[in-house]
Amino acid sequence: MASSEPAVRAMLSNLCRQCARAPTRPRTLSAVNAARRLPTSAARARSTLTTPPATAAKAVSSLSSSSDLRTRWQTDSAASTTTSVNPTSETQKRRSSTSVFAAKTDNANKPSAAAVAAHEKENRVLAEDDLFHSYTESPIPDMRKRAAFIKMHAHCPHPHHQSTHLPAAEPRLQTTLARFEGENQLPPAHVDFECPDCGIPVYCCEEHWMDDYEAHLQICDTLRQINEDDHDLRSGRLFPEFDYPGPQMEEALVNMTNWDTLMYTRGFNAISDDRSMRQVTRLLTYPVTIASVLHELSPYSIRKGGQLTTEGLKSFSALRYTLHPPKMGESDSVKGIRPQAPAVRLFILGARAESSLPRDIWVQLAHLFPNARIHLIFIGPESMTNRDDEFPLPPRTPENPFGAVVEDRVWPSMKISTIVDYYHTVHKTGYFYPYDPYFDCFMLFHPGLGHPASSHEWTETIPLLLETKAPILVTGYTQYDMERDIEWVSKTARGEFDLLMEPGENIFRSQRWDLNDMDPQDISCGNWGLWAFRGKRSVIFLFAIIMCEPSLTFNRYEATRKESDQ
Ligand SMILES: [Zn+2]
Ligand SMILES: [Zn+2]
Repeated sequence: MASSEPAVRAMLSNLCRQCARAPTRPRTLSAVNAARRLPTSAARARSTLTTPPATAAKAVSSLSSSSDLRTRWQTDSAASTTTSVNPTSETQKRRSSTSVFAAKTDNANKPSAAAVAAHEKENRVLAEDDLFHSYTESPIPDMRKRAAFIKMHAHCPHPHHQSTHLPAAEPRLQTTLARFEGENQLPPAHVDFECPDCGIPVYCCEEHWMDDYEAHLQICDTLRQINEDDHDLRSGRLFPEFDYPGPQMEEALVNMTNWDTLMYTRGFNAISDDRSMRQVTRLLTYPVTIASVLHELSPYSIRKGGQLTTEGLKSFSALRYTLHPPKMGESDSVKGIRPQAPAVRLFILGARAESSLPRDIWVQLAHLFPNARIHLIFIGPESMTNRDDEFPLPPRTPENPFGAVVEDRVWPSMKISTIVDYYHTVHKTGYFYPYDPYFDCFMLFHPGLGHPASSHEWTETIPLLLETKAPILVTGYTQYDMERDIEWVSKTARGEFDLLMEPGENIFRSQRWDLNDMDPQDISCGNWGLWAFRGKRSVIFLFAIIMCEPSLTFNRYEATRKESDQ
C-alpha cells in the first residue's frame, strides 16, 4: 500500500492501526457527554466525541477493499449511550449512600424526578428482560444495519471454504481441522445464517453451522452476551453507571485488588449487576490500566506470581516517587510556596478511540494521583479519529510545531495534548527531549506490534522508545494478540530490552467482550492482557537516591536526565 499518497493516508486515518478496522457508523458519544458535568472546559471535551455520518460512510467504503479488515470501537461510543443521561433522584440517593471515600461532582443540573420518568417513558425502547434479539430482526435500526454489514463482509468459517485471509483470531488447531482434511474445495462465502442461540450471522448456511457446531459452541455464549449488551446500550435506559466520582478523600486509600474493590473505595455508584459492570469497565479500563501499574498501591508486585520483575520494580518505583510526592508543607500562603515537580508525561502511542473517550474518564486518572501533575499526550496518525468537530487542526507554528490540540483545563492537575503524527517523526526532532525515567512513561493500547497488518508501522518507533529507557506498557486484545506482540519484540529487539512486567491477564481489563464485524469468530476484550518492557540500562539505576534524599526533587531530576543522556 503506497501510504505516502495523501489520499491513502486520509483513508487510513479512519482505520484502526492494528488491522485497519473502521468505524461503521456515526458515533453518538456526545449526548451523554453533554449531560455530564465536567468541571472545566466541558464544551471542548464534548465537541470531541461525535463523528458525522460522512466519515463513517467513507470508512466503510474503504473497508470493502481489504479482506483482513476489522471494525472495532464502533459501539464503544454508542456505548456511552445514545440518550442524554442524567442521574435520577434515586441514583442520587444511592450515590450519597456509597460516597464514603470520594467527593461527588455537584449536581446543579439535576432534573426533577418527573422529568426523569418522562425521559424513561419516552426513550425506553427495550425492556430490561427483552434484550436478546437476532441482529437481522432487531427492533433497533442500528443493529439491523450492523447485521447487513456483517453479512456483506464476514466469511463463513467452515473449513470446507478456501481460507480468505490470515485469521485475525487464533488459528484453529490442526487437530480440529483434521476432520475436514482434503475437502476445502468450496469458494469463500459470506455469512448469512444466524445462529438462533446468539442471534449473530456466523455461517453461510444452516448445514455449515450444524456441521461446525462444536467449534461454534465455544463462543456462542459470549456472542449472546455481546448481543444483549449491544441491545442494552440502545435500550434507552438510564445509565447511572456512567456517572463517575469526583476527587478522592485524602484520608481514604483506594484498593486496587480488583474492579469491585476499586469501585467501592473510589465511591462509584453501587453497580450491582454484571451488565452495568461490563458497560462501565469497557471505558474505564483505559485510565485504570495505567494507574494499576503506576500507583503505589498497585496490585502487581515482585512476589511469586506477582508479574512484576525486579527491573520493573525499579522503573515503577521511580515513577511512583513523582506520582506520589511527599508532603513538603506547601500551602496557599506565600510562605507555603514550594517548587513543583514537572508533570509526569504519559505518552499514549498509536492512539485511536481512546483519545476521544469522554474527558471525565481520563480525569479518573488524575483522581488516583491527586498530588501529581499529569500530562497525557496522545500521538498517532489516528489520534483525532471521531473528533471531526475539531478539524481543522491548529496551524503548525514555531510554538506548536506539530499542530497539537491542547486541552489544558481538563482538570487542574491534568493536561491533554493530541498530536496527529507518527511518534518517531516527533521523537527525531527532539521535541520531547529530554526523557526522564522519573517523569516519562509510554502506553501502547493494543498496538498490534506483531500483527502482520501493522507491525511495519512500529519498526521505526520501538528502537526509539527503547532508547529513552522509560517504561513501555502494552496491552493486547486477547492472549494470542499479546503473545504475538511479545514474540515480535523479542525478535526485533533481542537483547536490547528488559521485561518489567511478565505478560498476564490484566486485572483491570474490560469486562465486556466485543465482536469484530469483519469476522464474528474473532471476539476480544479491551486491554485483556498486560505486560511491560523498557530499554536495557547500562548504568546502575539511581534508585538509591530516592531513599537517601527524598527532598532533592530537582537534583534528582538533573541526575536522571544525565543518566538518560548517557
Ligand atoms: Zn459455509
Ligand atoms: Zn450461536
